[in-house]
Amino acid sequence: MDAMVLENCAFVETSPLVHKELPDSVAQDAEVVVRVGACGVCHTDLHIIEGELPPHRLPLVPGHQVVGRVEEVGPGVEDIQAGDFVGTPWLHRPCGKCRFCRSDRENLCLEPLFTGWDVDGGFAGRMKASVEAVYHLPQGYSDAECAPLLCGGVIGYRAYRLSKAREGETLGIFGFGSSAHLVLQMALHEGVKVFVFTRSEHHRELALELGAAFAGKAEEEPPRLLDAAIVFAPVGTLAKRALELSSPGSRVVTAGIYSTPIPELPYPLIYGERSLLSAANSTRRDVRELLSLAGELRFQVAVETFPLHEANQVLLDLKKSRLQASAVLVMND
Ligand SMILES: [Zn+2]
Ligand SMILES: [Zn+2]
Repeated sequence: MDAMVLENCAFVETSPLVHKELPDSVAQDAEVVVRVGACGVCHTDLHIIEGELPPHRLPLVPGHQVVGRVEEVGPGVEDIQAGDFVGTPWLHRPCGKCRFCRSDRENLCLEPLFTGWDVDGGFAGRMKASVEAVYHLPQGYSDAECAPLLCGGVIGYRAYRLSKAREGETLGIFGFGSSAHLVLQMALHEGVKVFVFTRSEHHRELALELGAAFAGKAEEEPPRLLDAAIVFAPVGTLAKRALELSSPGSRVVTAGIYSTPIPELPYPLIYGERSLLSAANSTRRDVRELLSLAGELRFQVAVETFPLHEANQVLLDLKKSRLQASAVLVMND
């Protein structure tokens, strides 16, 4: 099978992924082999490839928003059959034993395995996955459209639930990438008023088109204080700004795996039972609920597709913020 393989971490300017022919995988116990149709490319892949998040093994096939059809099912696999339309997200397999796993908080697992970090991911024609990492996908979406649901969609969903935004309340969204784009649609569906803060004029226009009640730069004042906020941009000053715009009792959730430092917070910004928390990874329940919501809601998902062998160029475009939508690699066989 075709694969884009990371042998040594390096800046994406040097095209570190090597196009290789790898032997096809065989499904062992409780595993399936998926013929990959599409795989999203996200900032986490970039951080792994450049070594900011050091890979847990090398060589490695990156990619953790994997969409395809089951080709082979290993012994002991139930509920998944050859031909099923499935996806695999970032959390590949929690340990199942630690105190977090035992209390349905496997997103905080102490010894988790991640797709495209600990096990080979979806920048390839085939991918082997443990059944725990395989989810049935909703109908009505193309392979490429499903890919961002598995990372941006899932983490956005978790952050949104942690924000506890409710009907009639206001939700501030800081940064307007693919995850924010989906959260806006979830919030509107539940009758939440959404205010979007982003530097990009194009993104402000898009937010208003999709139904945001306000779109401005972070320095601007929204028409009402925020009852909840999600900070998607990895910029610590925005968490502080969100608190400045928050009403008492509000929740500010940071959704990134990485952020620049949050500046010193004067006590009145957090007083009034305001809380600041981060969303980390996702549980199996988050993935299932988000995919079920996607089936119900028919999200608008903006994607730009590229052939697998252009992965290095796509990563560079992502790094340089030259993409207008979620980047997805599509396979041609
Ligand atoms: Zn991701
Ligand atoms: Zn665990």
